[in-house]
Amino acid sequence: MSAKPQQPKDAAAIILLRSNTDKDNPEVFWVRRSTKLAFLGGYRAFPGGQREKTDDQVVVRNCDDSEKAAMISCAARELFEEVGVMLARGSQTLTVGQRASLFDDLESGRMTWPELLDHYGLHLDANDFTFAGRWVTPPFAPRRFDTWFFLAHCPPKQDPHVTADSELESGEWIAARDAYAQWQRSEVIVVPPVLHAMKTLAAGLDDETVARFLSVPAAQRGPNRRMEFQPNYICFPVRTPTKPPATHTNCYLISGSEEFLIVDPGSPYEDEQAALAECVDDLIRKDGLAPREIVLTHVHPDHVAGVDALNAFLETQHGRRVPVAAHRLTAESLKGHLDVDRFIEDDEVIALGENSIGLRALYTPGHARGHLCFYDERTGALLSGDNIVGFGSVLIDPPDGNMRDYLASLARMRALPNLSVLFGGHGPPIANPYEKIDEYISHRQQREELILDAVRQGASTPKEIVARAYLDVSPKAHAMAERAVVAHLEKLEADGLVVRDASGNHTPS
Ligand SMILES: [Zn+2]
Repeated sequence: MSAKPQQPKDAAAIILLRSNTDKDNPEVFWVRRSTKLAFLGGYRAFPGGQREKTDDQVVVRNCDDSEKAAMISCAARELFEEVGVMLARGSQTLTVGQRASLFDDLESGRMTWPELLDHYGLHLDANDFTFAGRWVTPPFAPRRFDTWFFLAHCPPKQDPHVTADSELESGEWIAARDAYAQWQRSEVIVVPPVLHAMKTLAAGLDDETVARFLSVPAAQRGPNRRMEFQPNYICFPVRTPTKPPATHTNCYLISGSEEFLIVDPGSPYEDEQAALAECVDDLIRKDGLAPREIVLTHVHPDHVAGVDALNAFLETQHGRRVPVAAHRLTAESLKGHLDVDRFIEDDEVIALGENSIGLRALYTPGHARGHLCFYDERTGALLSGDNIVGFGSVLIDPPDGNMRDYLASLARMRALPNLSVLFGGHGPPIANPYEKIDEYISHRQQREELILDAVRQGASTPKEIVARAYLDVSPKAHAMAERAVVAHLEKLEADGLVVRDASGNHTPS
């Protein structure tokens, strides 16, 4: 069974520059997405969002491309809805109070966006929006967008502010170089187009700015495989036959001053293995880094299937294989399939050069017996493997999976200080780590309560329990749910809340 990636949806965003900003180091308005959001919660971003039906009903002057006009309209509407800035001609005579009532008209649904512009005698002009690229979310994410970016200057008398019902937590003007420096210090998480914008603007505004924005293939809907959400951590998703709805497994390339680690090269497909090998080759040849080890978070095939191919590549191209390192239980399970050269012990630190990255290994079983997470104490980044993922859900399938261990592992992860980001085995990084871990823990606790209730009401087999406790889950997923129920029942038995008789029936104790 393999899933198809989501189709990207149209979206637009505005890179808003302060009026009369310093051309040498322009100020831009960036926002922080609410940490309560399931998708990209906690990320820094630009105001923007998804295209709506009426966006193409707005006449945009000086634009004969209807597609572009609709996206300008979308961008202008989103900017107004999220931070209250009206980028329409004719708006300079509106007072703050009038803008507020316009906002009300739109948010309450009294008027549609085209009606609103019309009613107040406003119009959009393409000359106010400079196209700065179109980026497509790679297929590893649960939600995907084909996003048009526009550079625009904030009208002099308007002040952006995060509006009450936006999905944003805060927003501020920031000099591009300061924003870029914050990313370099691992203080913020951004998606690749935002990082690219910060880097580009940090070089100053001149006649070449737009050309620099468009100079990378990813800015013109090209592939965007090597993503650096945080410095030194390259996320390189590879297509794998993983558990739907996910379609990719994240391989991470983590670099110190001289060496780098390759975590979970999991694709069994030749084209994907070649793409990863090319990225590894770049780190060796262009960045002068030496591959230190291939590290495995756990035993599952979608995390280990590319190990031999990568080592074969390194042997032919660079004259040597790199050692494979994993927990001893992972090595045990892989025996006969894959050789593990070194065991990683709980709490050991893998140091990538002096004053560089140090990763503390955390033995965190539950999803798999030998599961490891890796914690970067300096930046608060945690490689969470498949214990927490950015796409799909985590299956606990006994006997390799164990619910008691899993909850203990989640508690151990929750107790880490200064967590800033979770780099999971699937999907985008999670920039609201504590919220996400809490959500995982409470989700399991709620399910456990439903299961215990079902047993108390007389359901005694996994099948009967699923029928009562998984009403929210489609029947297609019931076979998988039964595995999870087995895991919960084992835990409830160990907790002394449920007993199992000789024929395998469960009753409350
Ligand atoms: Zn797994």
